[in-house]
Amino acid sequence: MTQLLDTPSPSTVPLVDPGMLRSLRPLLRGDVIATDDPGYDEARAIWNGMINRRPAVIARCLGVADALAALQFAREHGLAVSVRSGGHNIAGLAVSDGSLMIDLSRMRGVRVDPSARTAHAHAGCLLSDVDRETQVHGLAAVLGFISTTGIAGLTLGGGFGYLTRRFGWTCDTVRSMEVVTADGRIVQASEKENRDLFWGLRGGGGNFGVVTSFEYQLYPVGPQIFGGALAWRGEDAPVILEAYRNLLSTAPPEMTCVAALRRAPPAPWLAKEVHGQPIIALFICHTGEPERAEALLAPLRALRVPVGDTVQRRSYLSQQSLLDATQPKGRRYYWKSECLSTLDPAMLAPLLDHAARIASPHSAILLFPLDGAIASLPDDHSATGNRDAGLVLNIAAAWDDDAQDAGNIAWARAAWQDMRPFSTGGAYINFQTDDEGEERIRAAYGANYERLAEVKSRWDSDNVFRMNKNIAPRP
Ligand SMILES: Cc1cc2nc3c(=O)[nH]c(=O)nc-3n(C[C@H](O)[C@H](O)[C@H](O)COP(=O)(O)OP(=O)(O)OC[C@H]3O[C@@H](n4cnc5c(N)ncnc54)[C@H](O)[C@@H]3O)c2cc1C
Repeated sequence: MTQLLDTPSPSTVPLVDPGMLRSLRPLLRGDVIATDDPGYDEARAIWNGMINRRPAVIARCLGVADALAALQFAREHGLAVSVRSGGHNIAGLAVSDGSLMIDLSRMRGVRVDPSARTAHAHAGCLLSDVDRETQVHGLAAVLGFISTTGIAGLTLGGGFGYLTRRFGWTCDTVRSMEVVTADGRIVQASEKENRDLFWGLRGGGGNFGVVTSFEYQLYPVGPQIFGGALAWRGEDAPVILEAYRNLLSTAPPEMTCVAALRRAPPAPWLAKEVHGQPIIALFICHTGEPERAEALLAPLRALRVPVGDTVQRRSYLSQQSLLDATQPKGRRYYWKSECLSTLDPAMLAPLLDHAARIASPHSAILLFPLDGAIASLPDDHSATGNRDAGLVLNIAAAWDDDAQDAGNIAWARAAWQDMRPFSTGGAYINFQTDDEGEERIRAAYGANYERLAEVKSRWDSDNVFRMNKNIAPRP
């Protein structure tokens, strides 16, 4: 457990000369925050309240030059480096004891070119920043389900959301990136320039450099779509999951549907009598003709009487933030995840059994569809693996009280163990926790792992960027 709780006393954190750290200040346009500065605790806090690490210094960059200066400073002074963008990584990779944190969270500019249908976004953007700027043009990038997530970590690890069945992994839709490399150069990575780096960055996470901006391909979506949530009592889950499987196998790529097994929160859209009781909810987004969506959902609605139904015409922006309130910053989180090829009927009984054991009102078992456009590209198109997966299963424990750590983690692990036989063998890198090591990283990349290690050797042979799901350079 200590690996996870990670609450070092100040005496276990490596000592760094404060005078040396002060010499970083004049080198940056942004703030430099040391351990005794006001705001240090706020600056080192990330989304997962389980992570309590103390970097030696935080470099709050305002531009590429700041990121470059911070990296050069760390290398000159032998400091380890971590990179923070949205701070949403479950494993807390953005923050590391005794290191220099290159914090890009203040770099949130977005520039949209509506005629080229592209957006340039700085690495500190949250999904909501990009959605807001692109939606004024009726365009959208392929991003994730919670609008407070950072674009950078999400994109570099693959990235999927409501538009994935239509257009692929987020990283499939990236046209270029600007990167500060381990040896202190600023380079472009695209199909035309530094192709091997571009290949590795699309899925290989933060292993190859500090990405300071992304150029995304945009697609006409919204501003109105058809979406929302439908919920039924927990006892209806077997029937609804069966219908869910059929829906996914027949629905056009315009339709995406996430399934969640959890206890009903006391939300006004859910019937009062189910509050605190087990439910199954489907979060639906249809970006095609609304009439088509109504027809697809009619059999589901007729199966059992829903206890909540908010599916309607709505703005794409409201759809993108529909689930935000379920994932507040600072709560304690622990996830276990696998890729599945399909929703195997044999897995329903153990899945529902573990769902019935959910103790925390905030925990959930989630199924995210991954099929469609992802599978249309070859496995080695980019570093991201898992193009054979139809679903990502995420067993997501969430709770408030640290006295309940052991019980919640044990629940997630037990459910995961029973689901592993149904896995494709793959695992989504961005959902991996702190206690998942090399074997799981290899599982995430499959046959692409060896090529990733070669790219790592070319671009970061000293493993400067190792505070991540690390791919070791070849000796
Ligand atoms: C509530 C929640 C919802 C999520 N929903 C989705 C979803 O719908 N779809 C999905 O695909 N994923 C989802 N994820 C997973 C998400 O993709 C990862 O957590 C991702 O790491 C978040 O990116 P970030 O920039 O916020 O992370 P950070 O914690 O800031 O960074 C994580 C790591 O990524 C690397 N990194 C970050 N920025 C850079 C950079 N600029 N240059 C180089 N390396 C960098 C570093 O190794 C860093 O330590 C979700 C996560 C959470 C917590």
